[in-house]
Amino acid sequence: MSAKITFLPVGNGDMTLITLNDSNETNILIDVNIRSAADDPDDDTCDAAAELRKRLKTDDKGRPYVNVFVLSHPDKDHCTGLKKHFHLGKLDDYVSEPPEGEDLKIVIREIWSSPMVFRRASKNHTLTDDAKAFNTEAKRRVNLYKANSGVNITDGDRILLIGEDEDPEKMKGLEGILKKQGETINWINGSYNSFAWMRVLGPFPKGDEEQEKSLIKNHSSVIIQYHIASDLTHPEACIFLTGGDAEVAIWKKLWEKYKDNTDYLKYDLLQAPHHCSWHVLSFDSQSQCDDPKVDADAKSALSQANYGAYIVSSSKAIKDDGSDPPSYAAKQEYLTISKNFKCTGEYPNETSHEPLEFLVAADGPQPPSKKKASASVAAIAMAREPLSHG
Ligand SMILES: [Zn+2]
Repeated sequence: MSAKITFLPVGNGDMTLITLNDSNETNILIDVNIRSAADDPDDDTCDAAAELRKRLKTDDKGRPYVNVFVLSHPDKDHCTGLKKHFHLGKLDDYVSEPPEGEDLKIVIREIWSSPMVFRRASKNHTLTDDAKAFNTEAKRRVNLYKANSGVNITDGDRILLIGEDEDPEKMKGLEGILKKQGETINWINGSYNSFAWMRVLGPFPKGDEEQEKSLIKNHSSVIIQYHIASDLTHPEACIFLTGGDAEVAIWKKLWEKYKDNTDYLKYDLLQAPHHCSWHVLSFDSQSQCDDPKVDADAKSALSQANYGAYIVSSSKAIKDDGSDPPSYAAKQEYLTISKNFKCTGEYPNETSHEPLEFLVAADGPQPPSKKKASASVAAIAMAREPLSHG
């Protein structure tokens, strides 16, 4: 087994699975976007749910599970399919014999959620049913933690809060499950895991009125730097930086905060925020501005790439046709940071999509093309063998 980071192709949306190299193959799922087209066998959209389920283990009761589900922010393209495919509510109410034609629901052992991001999103727009269902489930877990003073909270009830809420009163009694910006996460679903640790970079806490407005407008999201081991002797084999749809003002603020401490922004693998949107790198509109400028600070925050780093856009294919996201101009900017740029909507080609899976080797993330290329080189070598003997 190797640690893996799998980007499921879900159009302009995110759905990323991290699988660790510990004996339990602990996994962390960041966001879901399982659209009904993907559930329809007659539609050629990649069956993201099936691809996810294939990669999950089942518990002793036969229930598929993820150890952690992280919601970057509650927009449609980050939580669609949650109600349909995941068990929400008490584990005692799990339906072990689903109706004909339906799959067993996936158990979420621990949730990582941000009340602040939720608050900002609900000020910005109406939340979908999936987003509301997630919020209800997160609240159920928080209330259970409070009621039990954090004692005897087990799989299916665990929750970690990412970032402070606006009202400190609301966080009283929740200090044990709160991770603020700049803090690290070493425990995954209730136990210490030496195969990964995480640093919380976002959301930003509540600022003054002007700043708060800008954070709401810029798609406040959970931003986490995942430090993933290939094995116990290489604990930092892959640093994966992912930040939902966070846009330019947020990356600019991150640079102001961490420019003297750039380790906080380092990566071997970056998920290009907001599906490679231009607004991650610039305050200027491409359509309304003659000479839109890249914001140097935001770009610096996203430029802390280790040698040979990969950048992945979880989006539709990127075309030079003025669409955004994904933006062709943004891609050109990322290419100045690293030539190793990939897009889920172009893998393996623009018409048929497969999960983009990186293996974590001791010397960093390995993209699937390398794996396939080396396999075909081996196949050619084998095919040639009789000739050399002949
Ligand atoms: Zn999005």
